[in-house]
Amino acid sequence: MTVQQTLAKLVAIDSVSSQSNSEIISYLEARCEKLGFAVKRFSHIDESGIEKINLVAHTGDVDVIELALVGHTDTVPYDQNWTDALTLTEKNGQLFGRGACDTKAFIAAALTALESVDLGRLKKPLALVFTSDEEIGCLGAKRLADARPFAARYAIIGEPTSLQPMRAGKGYSLAEITVSGREAHSAYPQLGASAIFRAARLIKRIEGIAEDLKHDRHDHFDPPYTTLNVGVITGGTAKNIIAGECRFTLEWRTIPGQSSDHVLNLVKQSAEELKKEDSDFVCEIDANRFDESFETRADSPLVEFLEDASGKSSGTVAFGTEAPSMISLGAEAVVFGPGDIRVAHRSGEFVPVDQLNECVQILRQAIEKFCT
Ligand SMILES: [Zn+2]
Repeated sequence: MTVQQTLAKLVAIDSVSSQSNSEIISYLEARCEKLGFAVKRFSHIDESGIEKINLVAHTGDVDVIELALVGHTDTVPYDQNWTDALTLTEKNGQLFGRGACDTKAFIAAALTALESVDLGRLKKPLALVFTSDEEIGCLGAKRLADARPFAARYAIIGEPTSLQPMRAGKGYSLAEITVSGREAHSAYPQLGASAIFRAARLIKRIEGIAEDLKHDRHDHFDPPYTTLNVGVITGGTAKNIIAGECRFTLEWRTIPGQSSDHVLNLVKQSAEELKKEDSDFVCEIDANRFDESFETRADSPLVEFLEDASGKSSGTVAFGTEAPSMISLGAEAVVFGPGDIRVAHRSGEFVPVDQLNECVQILRQAIEKFCT
């Protein structure tokens, strides 16, 4: 099968994160078994009662995988008006379809690369790792990392990077903050306490934190510091009622080297300071997501290999990836794959044919370099 035929097959299997990925996993499992790989499923029932599966297919002994090629099987949803979303369509050297870019192109390239290598020559274990639920928070990879089914030395995480090796990424954290007040008729403000005024004071301080964070720089990123965003705010019930509650979301994207709870601690400290000024001040901080940043050293053999093979120097990514999960399994991890992240997650996402073919060659060379 050609890489394009494989990609067409993968795109035809609907694997939007909201549904089970069992069909695409069964397909990948059969392809890997045919090559003589040992396969292991890690199945899980999600919050909606739907089965989600991670699959590890490997040669040799699974204890320490020399090279893991990691691809997520799920995709973002597609617009019903995109009638060809599940039919790979070629136009002007580009292949269109949901997941064609993110990240089925990488998976197709990895399978094709494997099929072009004499696996009998592999001296060190190679694994293909297919994950679930990447698009809704890298959940499958996190579960796999918690299960610790193997240790890995090197991992290539498939994501559209236009074949540029990405050796570092910012973390992602999210908190929901609820500030309480006391309702009263707005004609008598002295009888109440406005949750909105209180939230405004806290947000003013958060803006100050964002300003201070600019001094802690990591120059390989754009922008080169941890960023904060208050993305959504809601509060109050009517124009003539002193607001009893105000809620807002706070997200922050942490540079490598800074702990992901650094911002949280600064916000908690600001809330404490406000409490000193206003003993009634109450706020609840529900920090429910901490995705770590990552950085693989520039002189890692995997970084150097991918820079040589692609002819591109390594860079950094601003979006969340499964790299931290693979790093927690011991791997030096690099994010790499065909297609451009800027066309991912939109109707008409595509992967250029030449990048898809080049990726097959680079992954084949990677397998030969690290595993033979
Ligand atoms: Zn992706």
